[in-house]
Amino acid sequence: MKLIRRALMRAVVFDKPGMENIRVIEIEAPKPGPNEVLVRVKFAGVNPVDYFTINRGGKPMPHIPGAEFAGVIEEVGSNVKGVTVGDEVVIYNRLFDGTCRYCLIGHEELCVNGGLIGVVTNGGFAEYAVVPATNAIRVPKSVSLDEAATLPVGALTAWHMVFDRAGVKPGELVVVFGATGNVGSYAIQFAKLAGATVIAVSRKASKVRDALMGLGADYVVTPEETQALVNELSNGLGADLVVDAVGQATWNLSFQLVARYGRWVTVGALTGGDVMLNLPSLYSREVAVIGSTGGTRVELIKLLDLLSKRRIKALIYSRMSLTRLRRHSTPCLRLRIE
Ligand SMILES: [Zn+2]
Repeated sequence: MKLIRRALMRAVVFDKPGMENIRVIEIEAPKPGPNEVLVRVKFAGVNPVDYFTINRGGKPMPHIPGAEFAGVIEEVGSNVKGVTVGDEVVIYNRLFDGTCRYCLIGHEELCVNGGLIGVVTNGGFAEYAVVPATNAIRVPKSVSLDEAATLPVGALTAWHMVFDRAGVKPGELVVVFGATGNVGSYAIQFAKLAGATVIAVSRKASKVRDALMGLGADYVVTPEETQALVNELSNGLGADLVVDAVGQATWNLSFQLVARYGRWVTVGALTGGDVMLNLPSLYSREVAVIGSTGGTRVELIKLLDLLSKRRIKALIYSRMSLTRLRRHSTPCLRLRIE
């Protein structure tokens, strides 16, 4: 096989934790092992996980962050079948061994030998990245790579949470805290797709109302307005499901909004993870507190299929080139690798 590849690539690299330490440098492009593929990265998503990785450190150090990306396969390892050079792919970002009990039941997001690409390996904020071939998911022709690059973190996490973990059903009342976040905005869209009535909660409610209603939110309110609206819509009974990835700052409010026999689900704790739980308020209401993390490859393929049929919308807030990352380090942007 003839290999057409630059020996050097530009990459976002940090050698010690801290946003102030990221820089764009030229380094040697990686080579794929026998079961890996080399991906020419076209677009990468920026998410809170990248921010945490840059501030806490990743493996290896110096480290290339980037847990969400899509591109074109440039080279395949000698054992690789199923994907080939020139294929457009999006990267399922959970590493998994394929042999533990969780992998065997189709839950590779829980693999006991797992980890996140971009956290425990170098990631996609670079012109090239090497990933296991089993993590490279082909993108349908009718889906563009910038759309595909929005799926592996925000959309997949929201999908798994809404459908697999929380099991949203038609007619339910769902409250989404952190509604403008990457997961929150997809959660609005998917809860609506499931047939729920959706209340989106944001401190910037008046500013983001139109955008969130465009995603399917029926109501957009501030945290202070939420209790009264939930009471009004449920005759005082509460919400069937509360989605809260904000954490400590919203827990007291979000947990008390849950109806008897309702669910509370989280995929993150942006403002801190330690909360006080009053056990009688849990058992006496038969409330289920649910954790959710990432999603499966099957779910990612499902999202690509729905996107190709235009049943869901990819959420792209902004596009920028690799070299401008440092000045725009807020989550929920798409990064174009030029
Ligand atoms: Zn496993």
